[in-house]
Amino acid sequence: MGIHMKQSQLFTRTKKESPADEISRNAELLLKGGFIYKEMAGVYDYMPLGLRVFNKIVGIIREEMNAIGGQEVTLSSLQEKATWEPTNQWDDEQVDVWFKTKLKNDTELGLAVTHEPPMTKMLKDYVQSYRDLPQYVYQFQTKFRNETRAKSGIMRTREFVMKDLYSFDIDEALHLAFYEKAKQAYKKVFQRMGIGHITYLTFASGGMFSKFSHEFQTITGAGEDIIYIDEEKGIALNKEVYTDEVIEQLGLDKSKLVEKRAVEVGNIFTLGTRFSDALGLTYTNEAGESKSVFMGSYGIGPGRVMGTIVETLSDDKGIIWPEAIAPFRVHMLRLGDDEHVKNRANEVYELLQKHNVEVLFDDREGMSPGEKFADADLIGIPYRLVISKRSIEEGGVEVKKRTEEKGRVVPIEDFITSLETTNSPEA
Ligand code: ATP
Ligand code: MG
Repeated sequence: MGIHMKQSQLFTRTKKESPADEISRNAELLLKGGFIYKEMAGVYDYMPLGLRVFNKIVGIIREEMNAIGGQEVTLSSLQEKATWEPTNQWDDEQVDVWFKTKLKNDTELGLAVTHEPPMTKMLKDYVQSYRDLPQYVYQFQTKFRNETRAKSGIMRTREFVMKDLYSFDIDEALHLAFYEKAKQAYKKVFQRMGIGHITYLTFASGGMFSKFSHEFQTITGAGEDIIYIDEEKGIALNKEVYTDEVIEQLGLDKSKLVEKRAVEVGNIFTLGTRFSDALGLTYTNEAGESKSVFMGSYGIGPGRVMGTIVETLSDDKGIIWPEAIAPFRVHMLRLGDDEHVKNRANEVYELLQKHNVEVLFDDREGMSPGEKFADADLIGIPYRLVISKRSIEEGGVEVKKRTEEKGRVVPIEDFITSLETTNSPEA
């Protein structure tokens, strides 16, 4: 699908009825709008409109990962047992979400739940000396997890794409400098996607090397986590570390902390040398001594982000996409099928294409204005452009933002100019 699309040619259809087997709002709206298709519980396909949103989310994350020195790769989902044994993670008692399978000769394989061990193993081929470091490697890659609860639509699925970046540094100090950069990059990612104001850097439990990890938690009733927010400082604590001792250690005031339900949209983690020690990822320092590489990992689930945006930015009529990730920037509706209106609508469609405006053109015949309006509200594209007998008589097109109650008729040239002067919505 290019940047222009006629709705009559879109193979997906909007649905009037809510799906009977979904309790989550994101799944309900995305299914009704034709963004996703449900294969089975916890497994969804992305349809043309949904894939456009998904790819825009991926694009924003990719830009920010490249900006902090990330190099993109993609590792396989099929994983060998031997890669996971050194860290004891092949064990179903340790990792309880594995999908496992077998080769014809009975050799066991796993479908990747995450990629710390394979990434560490892969880097062994390329890192020998301190001169080979640092390295920051990331991917958008499919994970499989046998999640017990899969009732949150695309926010928790059994097959999902994760952006996972792994950092490989010489020592803890250099690691921490990168960790700080990653934190800022994550903030930018969520700001650009329109959920920066409801997303909090949250202290969570850390594991072996650091007392805390950091989660990016977005406030929503659809979340599974409880966090405690300090609004002034703009940070939060996950319930799992909410103790008097931690509150004091972080210099927070318990009486100011507000409890909220939230969803983890991303996390950043200091791994230290757990994986490099276990898998033998070492380098030789300037003095000729062998040292373990110091690691971190950084995850974001683009599908979970998309679901979270639908949960938090929608109204009773449908989705309200932020401009930076909307499937199209303009939804052009032709009301009425008579020649005069058709001709004018086609001219405007061509004009928009000439100006590189991403436009979905509702050219469907035999539909009432009410039906077209309802679909436009459900699909949630930022600008609705109506071309009708009336708008033509009034000398233009009727423009309405998804967030506005009423539109206004303006000459088409003025509308295009206004779009061009607010060109990069995410900046
Ligand atoms: P949760 O506690 O919600 O299960 P997690 O701690 O398992 O998350 P990670 O394994 O660190 O999460 O994954 C990194 C990111 O991948 C998460 O921040 C989230 O955005 C996304 N993610 C994790 N599990 C899923 C899932 N089942 N479906 C969709 N996205 C997911
Ligand atoms: Mg999990």
